[in-house]
Amino acid sequence: MFVIYLLMGGSPTEQAPQQQPQATSSTSQANDLAEKCRTGKDANTDVECRIVGARQSVQAFWTKKLPEASGGRAEWQDTKMVLYNQPQRSACGTASNEVGPFYCPLDKTVYMDDDFFQVLEKQFGSSSGPLAQQYVVAHEYGHALQDQLGLLGRAQQDPKGPESGGVKIELMADCLAGMWARGAVETKDQNGRAFLKPFTEKDLRDALSAAEAVGDDRIQQTAQGRVSPENFTHGTSEQRQRWFMTGYETDDINTCDTFRASRL
Ligand SMILES: [Zn+2]
Repeated sequence: MFVIYLLMGGSPTEQAPQQQPQATSSTSQANDLAEKCRTGKDANTDVECRIVGARQSVQAFWTKKLPEASGGRAEWQDTKMVLYNQPQRSACGTASNEVGPFYCPLDKTVYMDDDFFQVLEKQFGSSSGPLAQQYVVAHEYGHALQDQLGLLGRAQQDPKGPESGGVKIELMADCLAGMWARGAVETKDQNGRAFLKPFTEKDLRDALSAAEAVGDDRIQQTAQGRVSPENFTHGTSEQRQRWFMTGYETDDINTCDTFRASRL
């Protein structure tokens, strides 16, 4: 038994691949992307480069932040990402664009489909701005961090309902994404260059718009025409935005502890 950590609903194990995944495509694709996405300008203009830039920035952020926040007891473990446009095999089942982005704890990898943002935009009314997309990357890496800290099992024990471990884990990942957004601009590569240019108010609104679009209430309303809190797995639109802002404003990993929060 295992649970995968999705941004939205669904499970990759339920999906049949439309095409056989190609074993080598993710590696060669990663090399192509590294070649294609060398400059900050690329990261600002191309979706794939933006995702690659966000991945580098998120990992650099936690490499610096986690030892500080844990008093030296924890160090960030480098976490792979497979960015795909064809279905891919993961240890948690097939990754396809019907599933959406997820973190698989069994192979310690984030899976991102590059069509996902169009789905968010078209079906759920999210903004398509850069920080909307980068928030999704930071959220999935938040699950990787939870895995490293031994917290992910709490979602497994209690997956559904408005006060469930599942919802607490998801809102915590949103809060961790907010912490990254706050620190991202100051996060530099080995050459001292910032990964991302400073965020504007509009960028922040884009991120909140994405958080709103993936709230359980919004998704349920769109998919089934009504809201059923007993089936919540990720929290409401309001909660997801609020927890993202909590991380952004406090920059304190302790305030992201949704298991201890007096209000979810
Ligand atoms: Zn999630």
